[in-house]
Amino acid sequence: MAKDPAVLLAPGVWRIPLLGDLVNGFIFRDADDQVTLLDMGLGSSGRKVMAALSWIGSGPADVTRILLTHAHADHAGGAAYVAERTGLGFGVHADDAEAVRTGTPPPGGSGLGRLLARLPGTGFKPAPVSDELTDGQVLPVAGGLRVVHTPGHSPGHASYLHEGSGVLVTGDALFNVRRVRWPVRAFCTDFAMTKQTAHVLAELDYDVAAFTHGPELREHAREDIRAFLARSRP
Ligand SMILES: [Zn+2]
Repeated sequence: MAKDPAVLLAPGVWRIPLLGDLVNGFIFRDADDQVTLLDMGLGSSGRKVMAALSWIGSGPADVTRILLTHAHADHAGGAAYVAERTGLGFGVHADDAEAVRTGTPPPGGSGLGRLLARLPGTGFKPAPVSDELTDGQVLPVAGGLRVVHTPGHSPGHASYLHEGSGVLVTGDALFNVRRVRWPVRAFCTDFAMTKQTAHVLAELDYDVAAFTHGPELREHAREDIRAFLARSRP
């Protein structure tokens, strides 16, 4: 379990452990001190995101962009809180935008996933969306942050490649819980599509692989992910 409120991944890039390293958010800070936040964890995580921000020496006024990988309650749960503190709306892939605005996660694909989606507590507080993102879009975040649409887990699920630092945030396209693995099938809108689209991650260039669920890989990250994907060809 990480003890610091933020873990440095590369110059200007931090992971925010929101539930040990089982649930993570991320911070990107530009040379001019502008801050981008990515993923807000659970309903109770918003406060931890803001605490991590102050721990790295930044404040709410430095935040100029807030982003989500997708509209699930363990990623968008703290979104309303952070939107209020920063006065900003979220950037999220267009296909998950409505889910963020309404606080209603997209349905799971399996019978169990659909059942779980109806349980109380799987929704989250609606949050404003200011940017509907598209695949391949490069956001002007310290050296460029590329939106990599990896649908399946949810229709608008996106991974993010920070080109300046060589950090890839897989989001829920891949987990690293004990080892690199697929996300939980019951929570995927389309599990087959999840497995298919994750293969675009094998083509990207990065040094550090960071996960919304699990600790980062700093050594042979690209090789390990490519090996996992090669073993798991659909
Ligand atoms: Zn998810």
